[in-house]
Amino acid sequence: MNTVNIVSVSGGKDSTASLLIAIEQSAKNLRAVFCDTGHEHPETLAYIRRLADATGIDIQWISEDFSEQIIKKRARIADPVNGWPQHLREQALEVLHPTGIPFLDMVLWKGRFPSTKAKFCTEHLKVNPFRKQIIGPLIASKEFSRIVSWVGVRRDESLSRANVAEWHMEFGEPETGEGLWLHRPIATWTAEQVFDLHRRHGIKWNPLYEQGMGRVGCMPCINARKGELREIARRFPVEIERVADWERIASQAAKRGCATFWPARGEVNVTLESHGIHKVVDWSRTSRGGRQFDLIAVSEAEDSSPMCQSIYGLCE
Ligand code: SF4
Repeated sequence: MNTVNIVSVSGGKDSTASLLIAIEQSAKNLRAVFCDTGHEHPETLAYIRRLADATGIDIQWISEDFSEQIIKKRARIADPVNGWPQHLREQALEVLHPTGIPFLDMVLWKGRFPSTKAKFCTEHLKVNPFRKQIIGPLIASKEFSRIVSWVGVRRDESLSRANVAEWHMEFGEPETGEGLWLHRPIATWTAEQVFDLHRRHGIKWNPLYEQGMGRVGCMPCINARKGELREIARRFPVEIERVADWERIASQAAKRGCATFWPARGEVNVTLESHGIHKVVDWSRTSRGGRQFDLIAVSEAEDSSPMCQSIYGLCE
């Protein structure tokens, strides 16, 4: 059977382990893909480059382009029929230009940040470009009768992943095995086995794991826990400043006049001063049950770790 194997690489330990297994097994027509959200720590981007050098596998970088959506939104807002008050319209049109940073452009287009309840980031930043730029063209080309998408997901990561199968056919012919498959080669592995595999191959893991990060990817991820956010703010204040800048820009493009990285659920008088990322960082430094930010969707429980639910497992 003419098979192509595509490993989704995020810069995290689990996707790296999947790539190493694919190499060990001499997977045919092996390719690796990284979805760049524009919201990763520079260490992660550097790690992806080093991983490509160390393994000799060319890792293809893909990202989503939101220019078209932003242009359409500009036209909508500029039309007085759509009811934007004059002053809000002017300030929105000032910032509504594609920046080339996928995460920020997605937020400008949507007029808000994603959240644990409205988790559109995985879909727009990772799943869609992966499908449009990688899987779709492969299916259309008919070059391969079997497409295997390798995903670094482990059952012991969370309850929602506890029953994932090692192999799952998305579509195709079960009798012949032709079609699109999801393969989760480390579904039954522990984190320690994953680190051991890195050691065995002489491949360093992403250095962010040694700098207090439990997972790597967007920084911060909308799923960040209180302790993770505190650690990010302590070690990487530049990333917090970047998000604070994005909040200011996004607020200009929001019809409500304010867009915070973590949504203030149910509150009316939300401002960047009262609910912006700096305020949430202040809260992250309080002890358990301290300063009240109950309406902000950052998990206080250190053992609660909501995860990306994408079938492709594209976020760690
Ligand atoms: S890593 Fe987090 S913030 Fe980034 S796309 Fe995935 S779920 Fe969204």
